[in-house]
Amino acid sequence: MDTVTIPPQRRLLGRFAPSPTGPLHLGNAMTFLVAWLCVRSRGGRILMRIEDIEGHGRDPAVIDGNCRDLRRLGLDWDEGYGVGGPHEPYRQSGRSALYRASLDRLLEQKLVYPCICSRRDVQRMGAAPHAGDFHPYDGRCRGRFRSYDEARRVLEGSGRLPAWRFRVPAGEIVFRDRLCGEQRVNLAETYGDFPIARHPDGIGYQLAVVADDIDMAVTQIVRGGDLLACTPWQILLWKALAPERPLPEYCHLPVVVDSDGKRLAKRTGGLTLDALFSAGVRPERILGLLAYWGGWAEFGEELSVDAILPRFRLDTLSDRRPTLDEKALKFLLP
Ligand code: GLU
Repeated sequence: MDTVTIPPQRRLLGRFAPSPTGPLHLGNAMTFLVAWLCVRSRGGRILMRIEDIEGHGRDPAVIDGNCRDLRRLGLDWDEGYGVGGPHEPYRQSGRSALYRASLDRLLEQKLVYPCICSRRDVQRMGAAPHAGDFHPYDGRCRGRFRSYDEARRVLEGSGRLPAWRFRVPAGEIVFRDRLCGEQRVNLAETYGDFPIARHPDGIGYQLAVVADDIDMAVTQIVRGGDLLACTPWQILLWKALAPERPLPEYCHLPVVVDSDGKRLAKRTGGLTLDALFSAGVRPERILGLLAYWGGWAEFGEELSVDAILPRFRLDTLSDRRPTLDEKALKFLLP
């Protein structure tokens, strides 16, 4: 019998992509749990990539702590940081050659240009109010500089670096999110050209995340709903860098909030997994709460990831608002 080989890019491959800016909190845990469930429930593989190029994300103790916390919950990965695999290194800080090469591909296609405008400059642009009080970038740096260095000289002494900005085409970008449904965005009218990196070699989140997902053959992206807004940007980048490759599946999750409706943040010290483990809370208790938030358990159940797996459905998440309220806190730390 002939064996059918599935091309590598068509195998289901998800990813964990933590930015190790601090210890993981329950919101992060929820995202990683769902990313894991989306892959494991469909027999796919998952990789671990450390996104340590922006902010203060290079402390090996934080990186190892994040990985340890996920493993303690029972969330494992098949490839990537700490495991190895065909796309080493799995830390973005070691992958700058790929970002430079990706930037060069965009430059060849004349899709990006250096821009000296700050976020505030962009906010002040435009006379007529558009969606909300936001004005699309008016393209004033398009064709203005012959090189990045020329733009950089203008900013000398300001402490800022020019951004690489991507030329947005006219028309709508349409894509389907597995949870949020069909999305239609006219970037030219709402946002205008967008920044992909503020670094001479293109080292920045937007470019790096797409370059890596393409390079590592990722086919499924499950992440926090706060990143839905930049997905159209990333789709444009994907199409420019790998026109032959189908887009990955996207799934943006509801963000976990506290009882004031504010999203949990690492900076404000939202309850961390590490703190919970140190207080003697069992992983099954934490997972039970996450599963309740997802709609796969009654409140108060304690479960392992393997027990959650057969109960997992994505659609129960769509009308959920996971909240770390008094009741949840009492359950975790009675
Ligand atoms: N590293 C990002 C974060 O921790 C996630 C990026 C992504 O999933 O595209 O928020």
